[in-house]
Amino acid sequence: MPLEAEIPARLSSVRGRLERAAAAAGRNPRDVRLVAVSKTFGVDYVRAAAAAGQVDFGENRVQEAVGKMEQARGLSLRWHLIGHLQANKARKAAAAFSCIHSIDGADLLHRVDRAAIEAGTRPDALVQVDLAGEPTKHGARPEELEDVFAAARSCEAVHVVGLMVLPPLFEDPEETRPYFRRLREIRDTLAAGGVPPPMLAQLSMGMSHDFEVAVQEGATIVRVGSAIFGERTRE
Ligand SMILES: *Cc1c(COP(=O)(O)O)cnc(C)c1O
Repeated sequence: MPLEAEIPARLSSVRGRLERAAAAAGRNPRDVRLVAVSKTFGVDYVRAAAAAGQVDFGENRVQEAVGKMEQARGLSLRWHLIGHLQANKARKAAAAFSCIHSIDGADLLHRVDRAAIEAGTRPDALVQVDLAGEPTKHGARPEELEDVFAAARSCEAVHVVGLMVLPPLFEDPEETRPYFRRLREIRDTLAAGGVPPPMLAQLSMGMSHDFEVAVQEGATIVRVGSAIFGERTRE
C-alpha cells in the first residue's frame, strides 16, 4: 500500500494527539494550528492531506515550495515557510507564502516587507529565536529581539504575529521542554516591555516527536512532518 493512502489515518491520529494534549493542558484545541510539513514529499501527498481537510502546509525551501504551490493551485491552501530564508529569496517568498516563520533579523524583515509591498501581498511573519547559540542554527538571538520588533512596527505589508523556535534535537521531548518554556517567557518579557499583543500572538514550536510538550508550554502553531507523511530521506 503506498503511504499516500495512509495519510488520512495518520493525519487524524496526529489531530487526535493534538486534541488530547490541548485538553490535558486545559487549552482549546482550536487555539493550536497544525501545519503539515510536506518538504521533500511530492504534490500527491499534499493533495491526499488536503482531501482529508488539511489547509496549512510547511516547506523549508522556497523553490521546492513554489513548484508544489503551482501544482496544487485551486486547492486554496495556506503555505508556511519554515526553513531558513536567504535574503536573495525574499522577493519570491514574500510573493508566495502566507506565513514566513524564519525572520532572523531586522534587515531580513525590512527586505521581506519591501518585497511584499511590491508583490501586493500581506504575509504574516514570525521571528525565529536562536536559543541554543549553535553555529548551524538560524534565528535572532534574544538580545536582538528588541530591534526586530522595533522594525516590525514600521512594516507596511508584513504582519509580525509571533515567535518561532527550532530547538536542538533531543530524543526525549522532556529535554526540549526548557526551550519551549524559554520561548514563552521571552514572549511574556517582550509583552511586558510594550510590544503590541498582536505581534506576539503566535508561538510556533513543536514537531512530530515533541508537539504534545510544546502544546503544554503554549504552542499555537505546531509543525508536523514525519508523523503525517512518513520518514524523509533528506531534509
Ligand atoms: C522538517 C521540519 C519540521 C517537521 O519535522 P518532523 O520531525 O518531521 O515533524 C518542523 N519544523 C522545521 C523548521 C522543520 O524543518
